[in-house]
Parts: sequence; C-alpha cells; structure tokens
Amino acid sequence: MEEGTVKDFIENRENYSNEDFLEELKDKNSGLNFMREIEEGEENQGELQNIPFIVKDAICTEGTVTSAGSRMLEDYRPVFDATVVERLKESGAQFFGKTNMDEFGFGTFSTNCAFETPKNPHDNSRVVGGSSGGAGAAVAALNYPVISIGESTGGSITNPAAYNGVVGVTPTYGRVSRNGLVDYANSLDKIGVLAKTVFGAAKGLEIIAGEDEKDQTTSEKPVPDYSNLNERKNLKIGVPREMAEIDGIQEGVKENFEDSLEMLEDVGEVEYFDAPLLSADVTLPAYYILAMAEASTNLAKMSGMRYGFEKDPEEFEDFNEYFSEVRSEAFGDEVKRRILLGTYIRKAGYRDQYYIKAAKVRTKIIEEFKHAFEEYDVLVTPSMPNIAPEIEEAESLTPAEMYAMDSMTVGPNLAGIPQVSVPNGKSNGMPTGLQLLGPHFGEEKLLNIAYTFERLKSE
Ligand code: GLN
Repeated sequence: MEEGTVKDFIENRENYSNEDFLEELKDKNSGLNFMREIEEGEENQGELQNIPFIVKDAICTEGTVTSAGSRMLEDYRPVFDATVVERLKESGAQFFGKTNMDEFGFGTFSTNCAFETPKNPHDNSRVVGGSSGGAGAAVAALNYPVISIGESTGGSITNPAAYNGVVGVTPTYGRVSRNGLVDYANSLDKIGVLAKTVFGAAKGLEIIAGEDEKDQTTSEKPVPDYSNLNERKNLKIGVPREMAEIDGIQEGVKENFEDSLEMLEDVGEVEYFDAPLLSADVTLPAYYILAMAEASTNLAKMSGMRYGFEKDPEEFEDFNEYFSEVRSEAFGDEVKRRILLGTYIRKAGYRDQYYIKAAKVRTKIIEEFKHAFEEYDVLVTPSMPNIAPEIEEAESLTPAEMYAMDSMTVGPNLAGIPQVSVPNGKSNGMPTGLQLLGPHFGEEKLLNIAYTFERLKSE
C-alpha cells in the first residue's frame, strides 16, 4: 500500500504520529497558504481513530472561525459543528483546521479569496483551483494521510482535485447533509471529499453520507460500504462529445484524456456520443443564472446585524445606510457582481425570461444525463479543460473567461449526479484529471470504476 494514504493509516496506525502531522501542516502551509486556521482538535475513538481531517472554511466548526473566505465572516465562530464534522469526529477522526477558498465559493481558482491566495504545491506560481482550492492543495502538499472535506456548487471539488493531482468525490445531491454549510446555492450545493486515493475519498464519503433530520433534502437510502472497492469489467463507457471536445481545451489535457480512454478499453467498450444539451452553451448560462439567483438571496442575511462583520450602528442614519456600508466594505468584487446579477435575474419582468427559463433548461439537462445512463455505466470527460494557470494569468481573466473554465463541471452539478475526479497524468509538469460521472445514487459503482482506473493507471 502506498504510504501516506488513508488506507495505510488504518492498517499501520503505529507508524503515524499526529504531532508529526501538525508540524508538517504548519510547515507546508507557511509557504502555500492552503489553510485558513490550523487547530489541533481532540483525539477521538473509533474506526478512523486519529486520522486527521480538515474542512473547507464554508462548513461550520464549533468554536473555530468559519469565514467562507470572506471578510464578512472573518470573526464568525459557530456554536455548532456541521453534521459532516460531527460524523467525522464520531468516527474517531481528528480535526486539524479549515482550508482556504474563494469567497462564498464564487470562483474557479481561489483567487477570489478575501485573504491571501493559496499556491499550488506542484508549482508555487500557479493557482490551486477553486472554490475548494485549499482542500485540494492540502492533500497534495502533505505526505501524511488526511481526509479533506470540500464542497461543490458547480465543480469545486473536481476542479481542485484535477489541478492538484488528487482524488475528489462529489456525491449525488441529497446524499450528504448540508446542515452547517454556509450556503452558496442551495439546490446545487454538495459536500464531498478529497483525498490521495479513491479509497480515502470513499472512506470519507462513507462516514459523512446518509440521512440527517437536520437537512430535509437528505435521502433515506442506506449508505453502502463505499470503501469496499472492487475492480469492474465489461463496462459501457460513454464520452459525451459536447463535454469532451470543447473549444480551447489544452493539447496536453486532450492527450492525457485520450490515453485514459485507451486504458479504459481494457475494462470496457468506449464510445463517443452526442449530447447537445450538455454543451457549454447550454449548461453555463443555466448554471450561472440559477447559482447567482440563489446566491443573491442567501447573501441577504449577511447584513452585519446577527453575526460577522459589523460597524457602530450609531454612526448611521438608518438600517439601509448601515446595511449598504457594511456590505460595500466586507464583500469582495465577485460577490457584489453576483448579488447584482442574481437580483436582476429574479426581478419582476425578468424572472420568466431568465430564472424560470434556466430552471426548465436544467430539467432538460437532467433528462439528457438520465437518457445517457440508460445506455452507459459511466460517462467520462476531462476534469478541467486546462492545467492550473499561473496566478497572474488567472487574475487577469474577465469574469466570463473564468466562468467558461467550468464547462465540464457545471452540467453534472445542475443534474445533481455524482462525480469523481482521478489524476490521469501530467502536462507541462502539472497534474490533469479524469472526471467520471454516474447516475443518481450510483456512487458505489462509480467509485469502483474510479478505483479500476486508478489501478490501471498505476500499473
Ligand atoms: N466556479 C463555479 C462558480 O464560481 C463553481 C464554484 C463552486 O462549485 N463553488 O460558481
């Protein structure tokens, strides 16, 4: 077994000391800034006894700052643990802190973080991806096994998994409780896991998944033993042409993807198919309309009244003035942009034209995926169209150019289907990823297929 993996930790606990982990975490983080807070949580008993876990900063942790990457929540210390955090602690895992991210999850590179921009461990001049960028970079930077909890609204687990060369699992919508998540867009948000191997991601998911009375959208379906992984054969593997052959895809990414398809031919039949509704022209506008509409409503509660950033109310004429001043000062540019666009989209007169239309398109996208899964066991695409760009380059992109990077990930998120990203090679010294998609609640088989690919790749 590979050293530094969750599996190795479980099997050879005596070789691991969490004091060493803490030191490594502090040391690596000082150059890369993938953590927002480092904290040594209590040791716990259970199956995952003392395996370190870290949590994206949009997920509430009792007594530990949960900023969601925003100045607005810079000092916010929740009085409770999110359900996923509670479940990890109950399983014996040990909490070690919070990972850096784009403000409220709005971004693709973690360059929209209100605090310092995290750097990619493979090349410090490059981004870590977003929005769960710190979550991916931490797994890549540390030699020690760690379960890293991320969250995806439109690709934020697949993206940093690919850019950092780690595994990321984004489950079916409703598989994992969102209780305690600082919501981005409630109908899209999914909490998932990043780890070095498919086993680590599957083990983490197994612990956090399942019904939760505190989140009425969770499913009561029983949670299979995801980490009991078996290789699969005789698969029908579909490649949606409109997702895999997009404009602007980098040559190295394309080559690695083609090599992956060749490898997969050992375990199944690979076939390209047409899926016009999964093209970026359809999925990106639908996603950004729905995501911004929901985000702008969610952010209304960030008013400097109940928690987070505040000013002296005596200095202001009325609530409106206070509210505007607080929000102008504590929100970053991308947040303001999304509040403006999201509010516009929901306004009387525009609602039918944008919001309702996008919701209808979303239903069509769901049908397109369902139709594909009648034919195929799994769909595969590259995880991202490029390798992690240089920080400067990422910062110079226009918002529309940044949104275009999500063309492989927003469709699956709109449909609420599970996604796994597995490293599939390097290009220009940087990792690339293979994205595998399965039908709703098909995590078990999907993880087995991801595991099969991981094994083929390591041969
Ligand atoms: N890049 C996408 C966005 O900015 C997705 C981010 C996410 O999944 N949180 O909305």
